[in-house]
Amino acid sequence: MNNIAYLSLGSNLGDRMNYLKHAIQALACHPKINVLAISSVYETDPVGYTDQGKFLNMAVKIKTSLDAEELLETCLEIEKSLGRVRETKWGPRTIDLDILLYNNENRKTDRLIIPHPRMHERLFVLIPILEIDPFLKIPTIDKPLIDILEQIPNKEGVRLWKQINGEDVYALFES
Ligand code: ADP
Ligand code: MG
Repeated sequence: MNNIAYLSLGSNLGDRMNYLKHAIQALACHPKINVLAISSVYETDPVGYTDQGKFLNMAVKIKTSLDAEELLETCLEIEKSLGRVRETKWGPRTIDLDILLYNNENRKTDRLIIPHPRMHERLFVLIPILEIDPFLKIPTIDKPLIDILEQIPNKEGVRLWKQINGEDVYALFES
């Protein structure tokens, strides 16, 4: 297991925290994935299609022996197992699992774009991922992400909802 990846998780339908928890459990149970770090959970105002409920968002850092395509497949399977139905683009979802970064890869295919193309402009991605790794850089941008975050005005759309400490992390892994 020597590939490092960062994933973004989001939910805005039903028992949002429970969907996040189950998604993390599914990742942690996967034989080819080690969960290395988990961010706090943030409540965020929807962006893009704004006429929908607030999201809970978080980020995780994993180590994996899956290649990027297999990791995407795994993310889509976890979404499916948690009842995700695709209707409107950017519309409400029980769970969304996106690959933000995979090692230092920079790739663009029909199915998979890494780094995630909008990650650096989304506060609900930047804030949790920088909580895990404050000095993170991505292969497509020279500046550290923290400098980009500092330049974004109006950060009130992303609010700390559940601070994750040691005990909470343990609880997230319990079934
Ligand atoms: P979004 O996450 O943008 O709201 P979806 O979750 O419905 O949209 O994803 C649609 C498709 O985006 C997926 O089926 C996948 O093939 C593609 N995709 C491209 N790049 C990525 C990525 N980095 N992470 C996850 N999905 C991606
Ligand atoms: Mg997605």
